[in-house]
Amino acid sequence: MSSPRKEHLGASSSEPLAVIVIGNGPSGICLSYLLSGYTPYVRPDAVHPHPLLQRKLTEAPGVSILDQDLDYLSEGLEGRCQSPVALLFDALLRPDTDFGGDLQSVLTWKQQQERAIPHMVLGRNLPGGAWHSIEGSMVTLSQGEWMGLPDLQKGLGHNFVSGAVVTAVAWGTPEPRGSGAQAPSPLFQVTGVLTAKDQSQQPFSLWARNVVLATGTFDSPARLGVPGEALPFVHHELSALEAATQVGVVTPASDPVLIVGAGLSAADAVLYARHYNIPVIHAFRRPVDDPGLVFNQLPKMLYPEYHKVHQMMREQSILSPSPYEGYRSLPGHRLLLFKDDRQAVFRDPEGVEKVFGVSLVLVLIGSHPDLSFLPGAGADLAVDPNQPLSAKRNPVDVDPFTYQTTRQEGLYAMGPLAGDNFVRFVQGGALAVASSLLRKETRKPP
Ligand SMILES: Cc1cc2nc3c(=O)[nH]c(=O)nc-3n(C[C@H](O)[C@H](O)[C@H](O)COP(=O)(O)OP(=O)(O)OC[C@H]3O[C@@H](n4cnc5c(N)ncnc54)[C@H](O)[C@@H]3O)c2cc1C
Repeated sequence: MSSPRKEHLGASSSEPLAVIVIGNGPSGICLSYLLSGYTPYVRPDAVHPHPLLQRKLTEAPGVSILDQDLDYLSEGLEGRCQSPVALLFDALLRPDTDFGGDLQSVLTWKQQQERAIPHMVLGRNLPGGAWHSIEGSMVTLSQGEWMGLPDLQKGLGHNFVSGAVVTAVAWGTPEPRGSGAQAPSPLFQVTGVLTAKDQSQQPFSLWARNVVLATGTFDSPARLGVPGEALPFVHHELSALEAATQVGVVTPASDPVLIVGAGLSAADAVLYARHYNIPVIHAFRRPVDDPGLVFNQLPKMLYPEYHKVHQMMREQSILSPSPYEGYRSLPGHRLLLFKDDRQAVFRDPEGVEKVFGVSLVLVLIGSHPDLSFLPGAGADLAVDPNQPLSAKRNPVDVDPFTYQTTRQEGLYAMGPLAGDNFVRFVQGGALAVASSLLRKETRKPP
């Protein structure tokens, strides 16, 4: 990609940018859209079905949502997400979708170049993030229209630099220029490596007044931490099963594939294996009816495939009298180790050791954010700095109406890093960050 931004990167400029976004998945794309001058307004003729929200929307006619008080507008909204701004933006874009309706968005978008904030989005691969890893064979949880942006000519490409991996971010506050001067804002130094199309690599170093962490959680799969997990037949991505099936390493006549995990990625792997008649052993630590299992939270009508896997987990368990040949579940089983002759050793719920011969193992038990490019790997940014960062249990602690981290001015986090795990709700984080950056950057003296 040749773009003014990439040239800026090549020059490793010392002139600070207003904003650097690290990560070019759905979060980075949504934010870049809003920072590029695409501005949401309430349509003058729109009537929102939520009476309180409708009343509030009429109080500031002609004022962009980005310039309104997001705390006030989002007050009292409820839904399937913790973030008030994510609920607000979702309610504006899809007013009654959770009630089965298809009311049009109450927003209209204007391209206002004068409101654009110069920014650069850095990403390891092509823009798209985790979507690139979601195989054609996978089921998506979300309906396509929950994940789309408004249908305008986007033209965001010049803000994106692909092949740019950030390896370090450091910050400090410059000295004030004179007595009585306002305390200056912190400056961030972002360094990394840019890989060109011909695979040549070049280091870069940039300065910015604000940095947005939008690196997701998909790059670093969680591990069991048992002996033998590094053996060559043990994998942590579904693509390994697809590759093994395609080259005939795993066939319907092979020993079973062991799938470890009880989330949706594990369910996708079970569905894939069953599609190719490959025998499966499916092991997980929790009981099948544990309310914490994702299957017990998904509406059956909307997700029949996942419901089918859940039914198999329950009815074709090794604990039931006649497990079905091609699939056996091992609920409540804990993996102890893998042996190099392709054996997996478990402890069952009664404490008895069990050994199974397998052809391939897929450990699909989630993934962790990788903030190793931050001081202390970003551990002190978490809600509980004494526990590991986790999108579900211990995300980065952010202000709910700006998504600025509570521990460092100018440093923002969004998407699963900030606890918003679905694309539908990632968009609200982008609204909060863009609104905060607009206020900050337009307040700055020229
Ligand atoms: C298997 C699977 C199925 C899913 N199904 C659904 C679904 O049906 N519906 C739904 O709403 N959501 C689904 N999700 C969740 C959805 O993918 C995430 O909510 C979304 O991708 C988050 O967007 P993001 O931009 O914050 O992070 P990501 O999509 O993870 O993108 C972050 C990007 O940042 C890059 N990056 C990371 N570190 C660096 C670095 N140091 N330097 C440069 N670049 C870096 C990464 O390579 C990545 O491309 C699914 C996720 C998975 C894994």
